[in-house]
Amino acid sequence: MLENVRIILIGTSHPGNIGSVARAMKTMALSNLALVYPKCAIDEKSLALSAGASDVLNDHKVFSTLEEAVAECGLVIGASARQRTHDWPMLNPREVGDKVVQEASMYPVALVFGRENSGLTNDELQKCHFHVFIPANPDYSSLNLAMAVQILSYEVRMSFLNEIKPQVIQKQYPLAHEIEDMFKHLEEMLIETHFIRVNHPGHVMQKLRRFFAHARPETIELRMWRGIFTNIQKSIISATVEGTE
Ligand code: SAH
Repeated sequence: MLENVRIILIGTSHPGNIGSVARAMKTMALSNLALVYPKCAIDEKSLALSAGASDVLNDHKVFSTLEEAVAECGLVIGASARQRTHDWPMLNPREVGDKVVQEASMYPVALVFGRENSGLTNDELQKCHFHVFIPANPDYSSLNLAMAVQILSYEVRMSFLNEIKPQVIQKQYPLAHEIEDMFKHLEEMLIETHFIRVNHPGHVMQKLRRFFAHARPETIELRMWRGIFTNIQKSIISATVEGTE
């Protein structure tokens, strides 16, 4: 089950940090490490700081986009050192541990960490179902990357050792790539109905992403939404055809 817990680092620039993350993960029995467009290569510094966790380091996967890295994940949680202005569903580290353990038996889950100097972009945070903020010193809340990974991995381990029961398969949540497909479909439909003007899209999609993040639709609900979009599209086509007859 813990193999299903993927730690994703975006745009990491210090090789030593990647090694320290591998070590933080291995101490908590996590092994699934993914890098998204890393700004540095793994080198001797990474290896030295990974200590006995060179296996985790060497087994890492590399993806060119966050979307690809989380495509098969049913739960994606973004770790941010800043509390954002737009309110996204938030979890505290302990809740992250419980949720990860509850859901990792059903599908891969991802914990996403940002760049050392600038964290995660809003666009990346919007690809996450939940955000987690480690409630550190309000005057100095930015932890070193590997230490943030250590804290959240520790919480996952605590929930695992406390035998938080994996969620009984009743609620089936869609995978990240299914949600992205839904957003593409929704945007297409909103353009066809002229709710979104291509030249002036505004923040409609961003607000809808937030709405769906709060709702966290189950797989059958997502299918229903897609059916609704398809029917709206069909009725526009038939209205257009009738209008031209
Ligand atoms: N200067 C950056 C912080 C980067 S720290 C900023 O202002 O956003 C590198 C990464 O570690 C962050 O992107 C985040 O994923 C994680 N991290 C650091 N401190 C954190 C905290 N207090 N809560 C949650 N994640 C944190």
